[in-house]
Amino acid sequence: MFSRRLRRLTPYVPGEQPREGTYIKLNSNENPYPPCPGIQRYLAAADAGELRLYPDPVSNNLRRAIAGHYGIPADMVFVGNGSDEILSFAFYGFFDSFKGPLLFPEYTYSFYPVYCAFYDVDYRKVPLKPDFTVDLDGCIGLVETCGVIFPNPNAPTGIALTIEEIDGFLHRYPRDRVVVIDEAYIDFGGVSALSLLDRYPNLAVVHTFSKSRSLAGIRLGFAMSNPPVVRALTTVKDSFNSYPVNKLTQRIGEIALREDDYYRNVSRKIIKTRERFSSAAVSKGWEVLPSSANFVFMRKPGTTGRTIYEGLKSEGILVRHFGITGIDAFVRVTIGTDEEMDILLKAMGKKW
Ligand SMILES: *Cc1c(COP(=O)(O)O)cnc(C)c1O
Repeated sequence: MFSRRLRRLTPYVPGEQPREGTYIKLNSNENPYPPCPGIQRYLAAADAGELRLYPDPVSNNLRRAIAGHYGIPADMVFVGNGSDEILSFAFYGFFDSFKGPLLFPEYTYSFYPVYCAFYDVDYRKVPLKPDFTVDLDGCIGLVETCGVIFPNPNAPTGIALTIEEIDGFLHRYPRDRVVVIDEAYIDFGGVSALSLLDRYPNLAVVHTFSKSRSLAGIRLGFAMSNPPVVRALTTVKDSFNSYPVNKLTQRIGEIALREDDYYRNVSRKIIKTRERFSSAAVSKGWEVLPSSANFVFMRKPGTTGRTIYEGLKSEGILVRHFGITGIDAFVRVTIGTDEEMDILLKAMGKKW
C-alpha cells in the first residue's frame, strides 16, 4: 500500500510531552520563562480577520527585522517553520553523496541521521575528543565529503567551540561544500559564527526562536548565510510549500526581536541558574560537562543514565536519557527555574 521510500524511514523521537503539570519538565530544552510581554499583548488584541489572507511567502518584514537585529542585509536571511524545517531544506539542497559523505559529530542532534535517511545522504560520524568536544580537525582530509554540520554549542553535551577554532576549520575546509552551524543554543554563552559569513561563502548559521526566545510552540527559525545559499534554500522551500511561516508567527517573531532586552535578561538568569546547579551537582559527586547551553549533560559514577532517568521520573521530574553506547551513563537536564532545580537537587540527594 505504501512507497518504498516510507520503508526506509526511521523517525526522530522527540522528548516526551506529558500533559501539562504532570511533571517538572526538564527534558526538551524548553525555556522555563514566558515569551516577552509584547507577545501576550499582541495575542490578546489580535484580529482574526487578518487570517483570511495568505501570509507573505518570504516573510519580508520579519527577515528585515532579523537582518537589522544582526547587522546584515535582508537577502542574507532565510526564515522557516522552526530550525528543523530549515535543516531539512539544507539537507535536501546542499548535501549530495556523490561528492562523498556528510560529516557530523558522533554524539550530536539525533535529527541529522534522520534527515540523511529521508534524503538519501550518506554520512560519517566524527568521534568526539576524549573531553567530549567536537573534533573539527577530524573533519579535514579524512575523505572527500559533501559538507559538514554540527551544533555549536553541541547537543547533548552542551560544550561550545570557540570562534577561533571554527575559523581555523573553515579556513582549511573546501569553499565549495556547505558547512552548517546549528546555533540553537548560542544565546546561552557561545560566540556566534555570524561574523565569519563575509569570509566564507559556504557557511550557513541556523538559529531558532524555540530556546532562548521561549517560543518553541510557534515553530520559528532562521538561517543566515550569503545570498546564493539563501536563494538555494528558497528554491527548496518553493518546491515544497511556498507559504510556510504563518502570519501570526511572522508578527510574533518581529515582536520578540524588538524586546531583546527582556530575552537577554532571561538568558542571563538561565546561565546563572545553570552555573549554580552545576556546582551543586559537582559537590554531590556528579560529573557535569561544561555547558554553554540551557541544559547540562551529567552522570553519577556507578549509576546508569537509565536508572537516573527512571529514578527522577518516579520523583516527578522528567529528564532526557539517550540509550546510546558511549553516552549511556549520562542524562541531559534542561535548566529550569531556580525552584525547579532546587527540587531536582533534593531528589538527586535523596536517590543517590
Ligand atoms: C532544539 C534544536 C533544534 C530545533 O529547533 P526548532 O527551531 O524548534 O525546530 C535544532 N537543532 C538543535 C541542535 C536543537 O537542539
